[in-house]
Order: sequence, then C-alpha cells, then structure tokens
Amino acid sequence: MATGRSDLPLTVVDGVSRDAFGIMAPGWTTLRFFPSMKSQFEKESLDAELSIWRSDGLKLLHYGDGSWNAPGAVHAAKDVYVPWLQTRSGVAHMLTSQCQRLGIQIQYGTTAVDFKETDEKAIVAIEIGDEVTHVEADIVVAADGVGTKSHAHVSGQSAKATSSGYSIFRRIVPLEFIEKEFSLRILEKFFSGQRPEFRIYLCPPDAHANIILSKEFFSYALTYKDPNYLEKDAKESWNATVPTDVVVEKFSKLDPDLLDVLRVIPNESIVDWTLRWRDPQPKWTSDGGRVVQLGDSAHSFLPTSGNGATQACEDALSLATCLRIARKGKERVATKVHNKLRFERVATIQKFGFMTRSSLHTIDLKLAREKPEILRDMLVMPEWIWGHDPVHYALGNYKEAEQHILEGAPFHNSNLPQGYTYEPWTVAGEMEKEANRGSGEI
Ligand SMILES: Cc1cc2nc3c(=O)[nH]c(=O)nc-3n(C[C@H](O)[C@H](O)[C@H](O)COP(=O)(O)OP(=O)(O)OC[C@H]3O[C@@H](n4cnc5c(N)ncnc54)[C@H](O)[C@@H]3O)c2cc1C
Repeated sequence: MATGRSDLPLTVVDGVSRDAFGIMAPGWTTLRFFPSMKSQFEKESLDAELSIWRSDGLKLLHYGDGSWNAPGAVHAAKDVYVPWLQTRSGVAHMLTSQCQRLGIQIQYGTTAVDFKETDEKAIVAIEIGDEVTHVEADIVVAADGVGTKSHAHVSGQSAKATSSGYSIFRRIVPLEFIEKEFSLRILEKFFSGQRPEFRIYLCPPDAHANIILSKEFFSYALTYKDPNYLEKDAKESWNATVPTDVVVEKFSKLDPDLLDVLRVIPNESIVDWTLRWRDPQPKWTSDGGRVVQLGDSAHSFLPTSGNGATQACEDALSLATCLRIARKGKERVATKVHNKLRFERVATIQKFGFMTRSSLHTIDLKLAREKPEILRDMLVMPEWIWGHDPVHYALGNYKEAEQHILEGAPFHNSNLPQGYTYEPWTVAGEMEKEANRGSGEI
C-alpha cells in the first residue's frame, strides 16, 4: 500500500521542473552559431548512458551512447555534443534567455483563439483575460500544440485524436528526497558510475518503463496497456493524476527498490497521460499561405518515437530557411514549400513510433536474454533520422519544391529512408496490422 507523503514536490527540483526528453542532432543544427545558447545547452543536457533491463532488475544490454555519437558517425549538429537527454526546463530556459538577449518580447497569458487571413495579411484573434484583440502579421505560425485552434482555417477540419489503448505514468522524484527517505542504500545500488543513466525496463505483458537516474532526480515514465482507455477520462495533460497504488500495482514486477521509491510518492501526484494518435494530416499551410502550423499542432507523436520535439525543432529550422530564401513578398509560397519539404519525413517518423512501442512491448524476453544484441537492433535510431540537416535540405531543395507548388513539376523528397517512397497511412490501418502482428514495417 502506498503510504503517501505531502512534502514531495510534484515535478520541481530547486524551483524548476526537471522532466526530461531527447531532442536529437537535427534539432540543433544551427546551435554552433549561438555560443551563449550552446553553453547553456551543454550545462543543461543529461549525458546519460542507455541500458536495457528485465523488469525485475536483470541487466540485459549496455547500449551506451546514441548511434549518432558512435565512433565515425557524423551527425547533423556540427561542433555540438548531443547526448540522449535534455531537461524540458533547461531547453525552455535556454530559448527564453536567447530571446531576452536579442530583445525579442514574449507575452505570457495569451490564448490564440482564431486564425484568418486576407491576400495581404494574416490575422490572429488573441484572448487576454476577458478581452479579445486582433493581431496582424505577414504570416502567423500556429505552434500552439495538440489543442491548436488553427485547424478550422488551415485544413477545414479538426485533427481527430484516437486513443492508442496505452497510457503513460510520469513522475520525477528529487534525489534529496530519496536520500532522506532511504539513506544511501538505493543510491549506492543505482549509481555505479559517474554519468546519468537512461534505463529501459521491459515489463511484460505489454508495458515498458523508462527510468532516468541522475544526480538530481529519478524520473519514471511507465507506458502500459490500459484496458479502461475507452471509458476513462484521462487527458493529454500534466494535470491528470492517479492514486499511487494504481501505479504500484500495475508495475508490481518492477525492481523492488524502484517500486519502493514509487510507493512513497503522494497520492494523485503521478501524471497519467493518455497516449493518443492522430492520422497524419498533410496540410499544414492555409490555402492563402499566411497561416502555417508547426510542431505538435501539425503532427503529434507518441513518446516512444522520441521525436516530437526534434521534429518541432526541424520544422522551425526549415520554415525559417524557406522564409529567408523567399524574402518578403513571397512568404505565401515559402510556407507551402516548407510543408512540401517536411510532411512525408514527419509522417514516416510518426510511424516509426508505432514500431518502437510495439517492439518494446512484445519482445520475447528469453530470446533477449540469450541474444541481447537483438535489443540493440530494435532500438537503433537510423541515420536518415539523426543525420538530417533541415537547413541544408531546405537550401538544396527549395527551388524544385517551389516549381512543384507553382507549376506542378515533379518533386521527390530525399529526407526519407534510402529507396523508400512515402505511402499514406492511417492509425486504424496500423492498429489492424499490429493486431495481426505485422505492424510498423516502413
Ligand atoms: C509524455 C511525453 C513524453 C515525450 N517525450 C519526448 C521525447 O523524449 N523526445 C521528443 O522529441 N519528444 C517527446 N515528446 C513530444 C514533445 O514533448 C512534443 O512533440 C513537443 O513538445 C512539441 O512541441 P510544440 O512546441 O509543437 O508543442 P508544445 O510543447 O505543446 O508547446 C505548445 C505551446 O503553446 C502554448 N499554447 C497552447 N495553446 C495555446 C493557445 N491557444 N494560444 C497560445 N499558446 C498556446 C502552450 O502553453 C505551449 O507553451 C513527449 C511528449 C509527451 C506527452
């Protein structure tokens, strides 16, 4: 039974949220040009080593660094060391500090509620408190996440979300709390080396746990098949929480020491995030070209793809490059060229998230113990993902893609797996394939 405690902060260590994610090299291709941001990035990154474990605590494979840091690999972010993980707060802090240095104003507490455009300008309606004001611009970038209100204007229909049948429990536990509660026993067991650890625990049937062990916190991200997903009202939100006992029971076969830490987490402070899928929607730019969606508002990802934030950053780099090439007066074409350059790549990587989750949940553990290298093959991130430079790609392909948009000339994207031609897919189709045990082939 969970005892629960009231003095454990929710996701806060030293006053900042420390949830972690991984943004791969393609998201950092221009970081070298911004030395202050780069040094903040290096300070905030978690240089973790990856390993794969059986749920009860048997180590199956030491994976180490990401493939992009293997000897001889050349990734897309020149002169930047890109480890597996960054903290969300660290990246947010890095970006807002850069805006301050450049005098770019950020206004908080505003909600974009409607998008429109004329031939000359885009107009976004913004709610501040009870007041709605209208702001005009050459283009508006709707980078407002999965709940964006821009679909009505951009594609004329909402992006319907389907539950994947899976949910993820998430919780950060500050290390000082573990020290206080468990003395050194747990720390000695989990900290063998100097570097942070990123562990994946395989938890059959149909679950896996990502645990980050750092000098500041333990982070739990526990993905499980949720039999009640149709009835329950869980949300894509950091505010949907569950009783601690529910989590402990669901992951009762996890390493007992990791469970002990979970047990003392206060009730209703573990986030339960329903994993939802949306069919890839190819149209991110309005007919008039003045409103363009970017990041999750255009394409949401399953966390197992490890790519949502990376693709949002790639979008930003690509869009900025297209606008730079087009210059003022031709921005309406630039947004469409950007869409053309990006959609097929993003939709292919979205599909990749199905594969990874499916593999992690169905792997034969006996086989994995005998031949741990199959785990490496399963998790390896291909070079076409981490080696891609979205700025370089936009510079090299803008003209041809523009001719495609304006004159219907043929254009083929080359930012996909070698030899692969994109074929439209749907969530329903992928789920059916998975049910037949053939999911996710790219
Ligand atoms: C549990 C979980 C784990 C994940 N792990 C990873 C990972 O390891 N690697 C990875 O690459 N990705 C990961 N992702 C995905 C990643 O977090 C998202 O893809 C990424 O944050 C998308 O960035 P975004 O800027 O498009 O949207 P968001 O990060 O959602 O940002 C949208 C912003 O818009 C604001 N906003 C919302 N509505 C409005 C409005 N109407 N008006 C004005 N502003 C608004 C929001 O407050 C927010 O600041 C994970 C996601 C989840 C849920």
